[in-house]
Amino acid sequence: MTGRPDEASPLQSSPCCKSTTLASLTLYRCQRQSESARQSNISFSRPGSSSNSLRPSSKTLAPRALISHRSAGSVEKVDFEIVDQEDQIQPALTRIRDDIGETLSVNCEGEDLSRRGKLSLVCVASALGKYTFLFDIKTLGAKVFDEGMREILEDPGREKLMFDCRQDSDCLWHQYKVKLANVLDLQPIEVIFRELRARKPDRKRLVSGYMRCLQNYRGSAQARLIQLKTACRPLMANSGRVWMERPIQNKLLDLAALGIQGYYPLFRHMTCLGNNQARYASQKYVEFLREREVRLYDKYERNAYLPWRVIPRSGDASGVYSEETVCVGCKRSFPRSDFSSVTAGNQRCPVCLKVYYEN
Ligand SMILES: [Zn+2]
Repeated sequence: MTGRPDEASPLQSSPCCKSTTLASLTLYRCQRQSESARQSNISFSRPGSSSNSLRPSSKTLAPRALISHRSAGSVEKVDFEIVDQEDQIQPALTRIRDDIGETLSVNCEGEDLSRRGKLSLVCVASALGKYTFLFDIKTLGAKVFDEGMREILEDPGREKLMFDCRQDSDCLWHQYKVKLANVLDLQPIEVIFRELRARKPDRKRLVSGYMRCLQNYRGSAQARLIQLKTACRPLMANSGRVWMERPIQNKLLDLAALGIQGYYPLFRHMTCLGNNQARYASQKYVEFLREREVRLYDKYERNAYLPWRVIPRSGDASGVYSEETVCVGCKRSFPRSDFSSVTAGNQRCPVCLKVYYEN
């Protein structure tokens, strides 16, 4: 793709912007009146400023952020701030830290996201919509974590909403020594929610993707996200290599920002606040890949079933079980009684047994 407004045409920061650290985050609004306007005639303005345009400077990079959409007669805005310069890291982290007690929405984007893949963005948003930051890890590297992001993501007192954090958690730990803590993962929570409402038990226990959840539980605010996810689907071939391009395509930035902004409405819809099952299942998700000594990237790691014993059985508040026998599929250990047969090196937990016979 060529001619994007976000391609490194530099912009000049205003003096008042430089006078405060927070303002240096370069919060801009870009009016995109049409695709052609995006390519040729872009204006930026800082919120709270009457100035509508900032001239390019040779010293500062263009902020690729805060995009207002105007298409097909409607105006839909996606607000976010991208952090891709070193002096932007601290102001952004300070803003997140200062929101004591605030639930965060967190997501990672990258190519083949896992301990072997590449991390492109760490996206962090206030669940209540006060801010959305896209930290450019490809550009800034581990510095983002070393300067304070690690502390935030590992803070047991800070709740993080995520959606299927398994690969994110694996990547963050094995590449950046960030051990995610206090996660509420919307994917297993959706299974709990669904099963609470179901008349019959779901024997298959398939998990839903984010798109499916949005379609099933959407409010009007999520219609735009569904549209955007559909539009970006063709870009996601090749294990998401497109996330490693710089500059990142505008619609991908929109997708990253809108994606995490949609977590809290979805969570509220599922009304699982304070549910111990939700917390237990989320912790299992956090550890699911991260705790493996070796990753195999096989069908037992990647399938559409809820992993075995991720949700504690009803009436079992603790969820504690004895780890007696290792499943040869998922490599997790369960009570011996969970296996229909335990023969030398061939025992599979009920979920891996399903995967084994269906593939
Ligand atoms: Zn298994």
